[in-house]
Amino acid sequence: MLKNGKCPQCGSSDIVSCEQGVGWDVYLQVTHGSVTNPSSHWTTYLCTACGLFENYLTDVNYLASTKSDPKIGWNPIS
Ligand SMILES: [Zn+2]
Repeated sequence: MLKNGKCPQCGSSDIVSCEQGVGWDVYLQVTHGSVTNPSSHWTTYLCTACGLFENYLTDVNYLASTKSDPKIGWNPIS
């Protein structure tokens, strides 16, 4: 997990972060069930050695809704 400061792909600790670092224009399209809506709330972590990146949504209201509203389409994996 890049967020922890170490690349799981190549083992490098040269990790940088940036709000809206990798996305589509200034938005990510986030599902709300039958539609997607743009969100500008995410942070990208990037390994400068191999280029692996991870995006983390930072909209706490949306994150909470993924558990409280099954209509928006997120399902537990365990
Ligand atoms: Zn890497």
